Amino acid sequence: MTSDDRMIFRSAEIISVGTELLVGQIVDTNARFLSAQLAEIGLSTYRHVVVGDNLERLDKAMRRAVSENDLVITTGGLGPTEDDITDVVTARLIGVPLVSNQEIKSRLDDRGRTTPPNYPLIPEGSLFFHNDTGTAPGSLTFFTFEGQQKAILMLPGPPSEMEPMFLQYVRPVLEKHSMAKFIHRYVRLTGIGESRSEKMIRDLIERQGEVTIAPYASPGEVVFRVSQRLEHGDEDKTDATVEAIIERVGEFVFEVGPRNLAEVVYDLLNVREETCAFAESCTAGLLSSSIAAIPGASKVLRGGFVVYNDEMKRSLLGVPVDILMREGAVSAACVRVMAENCRLRTGADYAVAISGFAGPDGGTADNPVGTVYIALARCSGVFAKRFFFRGGRQRILKQSVAAALNLLRKGMIDG
Ligand code: AMP
Ligand code: MG
Repeated sequence: MTSDDRMIFRSAEIISVGTELLVGQIVDTNARFLSAQLAEIGLSTYRHVVVGDNLERLDKAMRRAVSENDLVITTGGLGPTEDDITDVVTARLIGVPLVSNQEIKSRLDDRGRTTPPNYPLIPEGSLFFHNDTGTAPGSLTFFTFEGQQKAILMLPGPPSEMEPMFLQYVRPVLEKHSMAKFIHRYVRLTGIGESRSEKMIRDLIERQGEVTIAPYASPGEVVFRVSQRLEHGDEDKTDATVEAIIERVGEFVFEVGPRNLAEVVYDLLNVREETCAFAESCTAGLLSSSIAAIPGASKVLRGGFVVYNDEMKRSLLGVPVDILMREGAVSAACVRVMAENCRLRTGADYAVAISGFAGPDGGTADNPVGTVYIALARCSGVFAKRFFFRGGRQRILKQSVAAALNLLRKGMIDG
């Protein structure tokens, strides 16, 4: 089995797996979605097949599919239950074991998703795709079948998992195996949610032609991918679309390109030869590690404080007992002192402080769960801002980090 970057997929077959499809309980929207996507990237679908959750019949369908087409895409049957057999059938057909993957496991753990011990599994040696809205990962496995290069792509069944996974992770990989060529540009936003930002450019999405716009979102970031399929001699027309997007949502745009928010902040600090430090309560180091994840971080990151409880806020950062008693640790007054003293004690040019209620318990009537105060201290002074984020604990923490980085970014740009 090989992972062959040069293999061109000349034909594709889509197999939708699930008895519920055969008994008319649900409509096979996955095949429709995938066919439309494949057409967009220049891959031809030759056949759609629907099979129930049955080992022999699925095996037969898969064998026929791989003998006739280069790329076989399955959806469904990847769950942890007895009737989910797509991965078993695929691995057996290819001749590799199903294995657990540490990166997939830890990513699920990070999201607080508990999974059975031997789940999820992927065919050994396959390329995998994270499932950000569920648990079953996708996988793409290359192998030789009767002397010919073939590939099987397995995707989860629920459209709410399959569609975002396909758009964000799978499609860019498949494009490399298409005869067609693509240009992609990325417009990245923060400080605005997915639905609001989409509304602001809805007419552009509705009017899209050769140049397409695909939105996707993660906590604290919305990305608009602007793409064009290039045939021989076509000119790049993505500029006008990127400009039009910026015209609408420019105030939220932090990057037109590949960099994430932490990388943008790092680069800004680096060129200005300035440094930062962080005082973190609820995020307990997440903000610092977003910068520390970047090679060369020591040039811009001086250090910081994790001050989780009131006593630490007082003893390490000198937050007066008075403020802690009267205003509470989740308050503008508290983060102002945290930021100011963090800046003084580390000698950094900029210090950012975060304190908030990440939930699920806690919060007050005035400051319910999701309330986060962030302060920025710099030589010209200190200011604090109140934020309110929705979602579970992890989501609130990630949004807090994004908001803090963005406050720092703006603080540098605005001077
Ligand atoms: P599975 O991964 O097979 O357990 O599928 C889980 C759920 O995903 C099913 O109960 C359906 O609600 C949905 N689903 C699976 N396959 C399809 C499909 N081809 N089209 C639309 N929805 C699907
Ligand atoms: Mg099923």
